[in-house]
Amino acid sequence: MKRRNIWIWLVCIILIVVAGIAAIWWTLHKDDEIRNSINVTFKTDEAILEYGEKKEAKDLINDMNGTIKQYPNIDTKTIGKQELTFVVEKEGFSKEFKYTVEVKDTKGAEITFAQDTYEIQVGDDFTPDQLQISVSDPVDGKLKESKELKNGVYILRHNVDTGTVGEYECSIKAKDKNGNETKKSVKIIVKAKESPVNQTVQPTYVNGILLVNKNHPVPKDFGGMDNTAYSALMDLQVGAGMAGYSIQMLSGYRSYEYQAQLYQSYVNRDGQEKADTYSARPGYSEHQTGLAFDVGQLDYGYGDTPEGKWLYEHAHEYGFIIRYQKGKEHITGYTYEPWHIRYVGVKVASEIYQKGISLEEYLGVD
Ligand SMILES: [Zn+2]
Repeated sequence: MKRRNIWIWLVCIILIVVAGIAAIWWTLHKDDEIRNSINVTFKTDEAILEYGEKKEAKDLINDMNGTIKQYPNIDTKTIGKQELTFVVEKEGFSKEFKYTVEVKDTKGAEITFAQDTYEIQVGDDFTPDQLQISVSDPVDGKLKESKELKNGVYILRHNVDTGTVGEYECSIKAKDKNGNETKKSVKIIVKAKESPVNQTVQPTYVNGILLVNKNHPVPKDFGGMDNTAYSALMDLQVGAGMAGYSIQMLSGYRSYEYQAQLYQSYVNRDGQEKADTYSARPGYSEHQTGLAFDVGQLDYGYGDTPEGKWLYEHAHEYGFIIRYQKGKEHITGYTYEPWHIRYVGVKVASEIYQKGISLEEYLGVD
């Protein structure tokens, strides 16, 4: 072999080796580049999640170079830190990323009552059981009642006095096992006893005249507008107008239900004993008959005004009486009401007016 040929061979071999090394280096370098480019960034450095919160691992990610075939599960039903592993793949390579989430319990127990307000009648039994209380924490489940407030229980306080009409409160304070506190209260209304008005009640007529007072109720569905009484009222208003007065009707027919509301509002304001002196219990109001009207002004001084005096002197000409007079409180059971007139017809009204007596005295019935 010639020396020259050897040289050529040598150069060729060197070139092949160099090319091989370059090829290997290039391949390796390219793999590294792909591997290094795999990345994921998260929205926050660490995530704090509420117990039971619905959160998917996908939602934690801000940006990513590569793909994730399977996202890790987040268990928000376990309190504490969890390390999630995200496997990101690209062109046959993969890289793992760790991320920490912490599940915390910051929510207290939820307190519920069957109703927001609860009504009972005076004298009825009351126990908080009637409120159907539920105190349930998302982590600890149902909490139990206890005498003193500490973690994992609830306490109940109420000031209900079933013997006295009024508004009361029942309140609950709860603490879950992690010390989260919640509270809620419910209003308890002790109502006046409802009058035993029902189907067996019959309206009382004496000599054809309907008597409604504290001893003589009318049935719940009795009454309504009375056309005769109403047109007599319009006549009275015309008569008053000719005398220079304008007597307004303030209240006429009132249903049993409406009277019940009205009476209850007075009881809430003034107590039952006081309310009974000026407001009728449902079923015991003359307004339910459609025969009674409140006119002029709801003012005790109304009887002393020229208009009130005119009404007193002329109501009977239209068939009306001033139903609750001064000095007759012990008979009628109501304070003087110069504005409340009752239709009984001209003949009876005139006789009552002339004699200066109450309807009860006229009828000879209490
Ligand atoms: Zn009235």
